Amino acid sequence: MLATRWHSPMPYAKLLYMPIAQPAEAAPVPLTALSEDEKLFQATVRKFAREQIRPHVREMDEAGVFRKEIITQFFDMGLMAIEVPEEYGGQGGSFFQAVLAVEELSAVDPSAGVIVDVQNTLCLNALLRWATPEQKARYFPRLATNIVGAYALSEAGSGSDAFALNTRAEHRGDHFLLNGRKLWITNAAEAGLFLLFANARPEAGHKGITAFLIERGFSGFQVGKKEDKLGIRASSTCELILDNCRVPRENVLGEVGQGYKIAIETLNEGRIAIGAQMIGLARGALDHAVSYAKQRKQFGKTISEFQGVQFELAKMATDIEAARLLVYNAARLKEAGLPFQTEAAMAKYFASEMAEKAASKAIEVHGGVGFTKDYPVEKLYRDVKVGRIYEGTSNIQLLTIAKKLLGK
Ligand SMILES: Cc1cc2nc3c(=O)[nH]c(=O)nc-3n(C[C@H](O)[C@H](O)[C@H](O)COP(=O)(O)OP(=O)(O)OC[C@H]3O[C@@H](n4cnc5c(N)ncnc54)[C@H](O)[C@@H]3O)c2cc1C
Repeated sequence: MLATRWHSPMPYAKLLYMPIAQPAEAAPVPLTALSEDEKLFQATVRKFAREQIRPHVREMDEAGVFRKEIITQFFDMGLMAIEVPEEYGGQGGSFFQAVLAVEELSAVDPSAGVIVDVQNTLCLNALLRWATPEQKARYFPRLATNIVGAYALSEAGSGSDAFALNTRAEHRGDHFLLNGRKLWITNAAEAGLFLLFANARPEAGHKGITAFLIERGFSGFQVGKKEDKLGIRASSTCELILDNCRVPRENVLGEVGQGYKIAIETLNEGRIAIGAQMIGLARGALDHAVSYAKQRKQFGKTISEFQGVQFELAKMATDIEAARLLVYNAARLKEAGLPFQTEAAMAKYFASEMAEKAASKAIEVHGGVGFTKDYPVEKLYRDVKVGRIYEGTSNIQLLTIAKKLLGK
């Protein structure tokens, strides 16, 4: 087939004068316009993050531990079960609210953002879609009140190539026996429930991958070494060890062999929230840069009076807004039940690249002090790196986008 011609036979005049559809459709709203509920929710989380989390950020980063009492506050505020229906003790909120929560928390501490992100957009999201009524009744009330969830897909040998996983599940009548190891599992130190992927029919390849709900106390299950990381140090990342771990048949999530679909679909949604984490982080970096620029004096003026500095701040703000439009659009598409996979990949790819530049620029605006632990931008620069790695590296997002472009 020939490529598109310059002179297309499109009936422009006809299109221009087509009557407006009747009855009048509601006008599309600006992407960043929030409903009254969303505004209130956003303001509440923002206030909480500034007042309750900010004073502990440095200490938690240094200790590499997230304060238990802040996690308890997350539960008390309903942030650990945003979309769970009220009948199960959740908030009956929306995916978009989860995105707003991750953004607001990450503006203060990206570790806080990822804890809430994994709970809502990966674990609960999967249960909302695939759990049986009995599984929902058993786990939602606990996940809404005091149980942290973790999402265990990656292994030492399978990261980007996630479905090459080696953890095996052997069917033994009323239960499965799981053997293998998982790596890089966020929230693992605190979690009570693990959504874990293992292959129950290796001969079927990725079509044998199955999702299991594993309680921390199950025999043969152990949380292993905790990683000593560059950034998001307060968020735990651990190895999991399954040594003849006995999992009841009723703890299979979805069907045997449906795990790859569950993993792909939850990660598509999770990626939007990682985009939100990155916008929040970049916004935090910009706020610090603006306030420092207004105080720091050189050549008898605050550095914010130099156009060179103003332009850097203006470029950061513009890039953040562009990323926010991508992230909010992907989230709104998902909520509208429209395809959003490519948009989610674009949002995560763009927001994480943008945030890395913003965190770097924020350090430069601070000059030498930005390079020290006395100022918060140094931490954001370390935290930001993971945005281009987890829930699919930047290359994996680009592969998703390219597949769509090329019709693969
Ligand atoms: C802090 C942290 C928290 C995490 N939390 C979780 C979690 O909760 N649950 C979980 O399951 N996993 C988690 N992960 C794992 C994460 O999802 C993986 O690290 C990620 O998918 C990349 O896999 P990998 O580390 O094996 O890198 P690799 O897959 O080995 O990639 C190495 C490099 O090769 C590139 N590459 C690989 N394949 C291709 C390709 N086909 N084309 C082009 N380039 C390619 C990658 O882009 C990357 O640059 C976490 C990781 C970190 C660092």
